[in-house]
Amino acid sequence: MTARIRDFLATRRPEGPCLVVDLDVVRDNFLTFRRALPDTRIFYAVKANPAPEILSLLAELGSSFDCASIPEIEMALAAGATPDRISFGNTIKKEADVARARRLGIDLFAVDCEAEVEKIARQAPGARVFCRILCDGAGAEWPLSRKFGCEPEMAVDVLEHAHRLGLTAYGVSFHVGSQQGNTEAWDGALASSAQLFRTLAERGIHLKMVNLGGGFPTRYLKDVPATEAYGRSISDAVRRHFGNAIPETIIEPGRGMVGGAGIIKAEVVLISKKQAGDQIRWVFLDIGKFGGLAETMDESIRYPIRTERDGGDTAPCILAGPTCDSADVLYEKTPYALPLSLEIGDEVLIEGTGAYTTTYSAVAFNGFEPLRSYVI
Ligand SMILES: *Cc1c(COP(=O)(O)O)cnc(C)c1O
Repeated sequence: MTARIRDFLATRRPEGPCLVVDLDVVRDNFLTFRRALPDTRIFYAVKANPAPEILSLLAELGSSFDCASIPEIEMALAAGATPDRISFGNTIKKEADVARARRLGIDLFAVDCEAEVEKIARQAPGARVFCRILCDGAGAEWPLSRKFGCEPEMAVDVLEHAHRLGLTAYGVSFHVGSQQGNTEAWDGALASSAQLFRTLAERGIHLKMVNLGGGFPTRYLKDVPATEAYGRSISDAVRRHFGNAIPETIIEPGRGMVGGAGIIKAEVVLISKKQAGDQIRWVFLDIGKFGGLAETMDESIRYPIRTERDGGDTAPCILAGPTCDSADVLYEKTPYALPLSLEIGDEVLIEGTGAYTTTYSAVAFNGFEPLRSYVI
């Protein structure tokens, strides 16, 4: 909780659940990433929080942007980023969108198979492409599964195909899984990337760039390593695997850039039990899975929750949202300890919610309006 957010909530008293983001924290995070990896370009993953104020601040600070769709590209451009500072990082693009991106001046595209390479060769001749390789996501609290990327052996063929079709086979990318707690998690994928560089060099194709993806964590309930520790571990691994032929590198932080900059203010709507003798209480908030807290899916992300009554005795609660969908339960498998004195109408603050909340909130499920956001 920053003093600016505390003041904002105290003086503005916004109605209903809302997210408040402190731009000073975003600025600090950006500068910390830059210090931790001074030779690496930063492409902010727009999907984490595309608020115009955040994008403008980052554009001003010199950030580049990882975009997954045409609207995200347009938002980055509107914030002041030039097309050379934008990548179309989604491996799953409609061919018409590749053409639109090209018209907007975008020249850097992600691929993970030959069919995608062919779309880009047709619609954006000569563009730079990087191939995403699979990463198992071990150590991540929000792993990204096998949906994106291909095996490194296949990436050789994909990049060779790109080269054959007149594209610039520019590099390799991977993502070690979001909320990655292990600072060494980049090592294996960097070893595979260096091997790919060597294999393609033998075929006359000289890759230039390694896209190290996101994965940098936000502090929720557990401590996480400092950004500096990630920077050191990644730089060491790059040197270990690439020797004196260090490639251009980029990172795409989303959560690590904005997660810790935001707090959601919410309210207790109901506290109840299922029978008189129950030890566990159900606590219903005015925000749930459909109001922006979708990352509580499988109870993966456990947000810190503060109340005005912290400090006294606590008891385990099942925490749920206000909608009429039975999936709208936040924490049940592992109940959440909240103060015994908690009452209906109390305000609660949900910390670390600057990333992956506003954009996950439903338009009007059950008539609840989308999560409001104030960027200060
Ligand atoms: C979502 C995403 C990111 C951001 O990941 P974080 O774990 O939030 O840092 C980066 N790159 C790509 C390609 C993504 O899809």
